[in-house]
Amino acid sequence: MDELMQDGNAIAGLLQEVFAAEMTTAVGTCGNCASAGPVGAAHLYRGAGIVLRCPHCGNTPAKIVKRDSRIWVDLRGIRTLEFTV
Ligand SMILES: [Zn+2]
Repeated sequence: MDELMQDGNAIAGLLQEVFAAEMTTAVGTCGNCASAGPVGAAHLYRGAGIVLRCPHCGNTPAKIVKRDSRIWVDLRGIRTLEFTV
């Protein structure tokens, strides 16, 4: 590794900043229809986990499963997230 190629530990502080931010007011862009809006406006469904659906096309921007002290997050349905830190 050199200064241009490091491992993820090099951005530990940035990751803490990103994942501690208020997310309901973050503006997400749907990976399917490209609509943008606050995460808090997404439709929420509860089952074995949490599923957030785009209110415009029904895409699933986020799936979250929490079990005991572990959390799994699937964000493959979201194109971008924009928020203030
Ligand atoms: Zn959508």
